[in-house]
Amino acid sequence: MNSMKMAEINDLSHTDVCIVGAGPGGMLLSYLLNQQGISTVLIERQPHLHKSFRGELLNTDGEAILKKHGLYTHIQELGALPLEQIQYWKEGNILHTIDPDLNKGERHVGIHVPQDHLLEAIMAQTQGLNPLYQIRFNTVMTGLLRDKNGSIAGINVRQNGVPASIRASIIVGADGRYSAVRKHAGLTPEIRKHGYDLLWARIPAPAGWEPAVRMASMDGQQLALFSQYGGYVQIGWNIPEAGYAKLREQPFAPFVGKLVAAFPCLADSVAAHIRNWSDFVLLSVESSYSAKWAVDHVVLLGDAAHTMTPTGAFGLNAALEDADVLSELLIHMAKEDFRSLEALQQLQAIRGTKVQQQLARQVEMESSFQQRYESFR
Ligand SMILES: Cc1cc2nc3c(=O)[nH]c(=O)nc-3n(C[C@H](O)[C@H](O)[C@H](O)COP(=O)(O)OP(=O)(O)OC[C@H]3O[C@@H](n4cnc5c(N)ncnc54)[C@H](O)[C@@H]3O)c2cc1C
Repeated sequence: MNSMKMAEINDLSHTDVCIVGAGPGGMLLSYLLNQQGISTVLIERQPHLHKSFRGELLNTDGEAILKKHGLYTHIQELGALPLEQIQYWKEGNILHTIDPDLNKGERHVGIHVPQDHLLEAIMAQTQGLNPLYQIRFNTVMTGLLRDKNGSIAGINVRQNGVPASIRASIIVGADGRYSAVRKHAGLTPEIRKHGYDLLWARIPAPAGWEPAVRMASMDGQQLALFSQYGGYVQIGWNIPEAGYAKLREQPFAPFVGKLVAAFPCLADSVAAHIRNWSDFVLLSVESSYSAKWAVDHVVLLGDAAHTMTPTGAFGLNAALEDADVLSELLIHMAKEDFRSLEALQQLQAIRGTKVQQQLARQVEMESSFQQRYESFR
């Protein structure tokens, strides 16, 4: 293999694989490639891994991948919370419950994993494999570097505000829903709105709060509560698309009063922690799918290739699945010094159908939510 040798990795400007974005997809890919001795540079525009809240609910697909690579126990050591049930509530009472299917070997309905636990555990394992492992924080990808034939040969970055470039055989865009790699490579996604936006808030859980997903129907829109590791409740409240400005013109107390009416046991925590509109964070909900996930020396994964809505909690898990598949393709390509780029197209060929099925499933779940709710009465 003519790939970069470990001893040469401290040459900061050359690498086999440059991964843009240290989210779940980029971090896992970096680990899996380092495990095989393939040199990587992972860049992250943030100064640390403690990002703003993102997807933190692991499903059986994501769990299986982390277990397959021996990573789940390290994440568990930092803290994770298996959720025991999905509950559908109305005015303070449970209408319907869904339990793990024991016949299928399920032991939970999802696992809450704080994203910094997931990312830190994988980063620590990668550093254990390769002390020269490079993750560069405060480094933002600003453009693509081209050789004299116009072929993509690396990326331009700003590291701590200073322009620099990184040459690489392969560039992986793992840089999320507003991917700069995707934009610069001309891989335009098809964007779809879903008729709703989402308000998020996080409050301490009341005493005796069991680990579960709790759902309620609020004026025909979904209100979901996720128990979180560390004794918190994450609130995800669907509101009409682009309706937040209008909502904010209304008095706050009656709005938040609906939350307490649906879940009376939250009254004290809501009173103490959700006191005005600024205690909510607005997420503009959209999904996207890139018609092509790879071009030239560039390949996209995770949200950069396919952004999902929060419905069904697929996004984090899909990013992990992409990284798992892409690592195998890149390991194969490394054996031939990345001379052939055909394998990059295989990621979409292998993963595209399942991703599109999940995107369609989200639309179906969103449109049938109220109908499903009424069937529980
Ligand atoms: C509010 C919210 C709730 C969600 N809930 C769930 C859930 O419960 N379960 C679930 O499975 N999914 C959920 N998702 C989706 C999930 O968070 C994403 O699908 C997942 O994080 C995608 O991982 P990723 O690695 O592809 O990208 P990301 O996690 O978005 O990571 C991309 C990284 O790239 C970095 N970056 C971006 N641009 C640049 C640049 N130019 N240069 C350098 N670095 C850059 C970013 O800082 C970021 O760290 C949720 C998403 C949101 C927004």
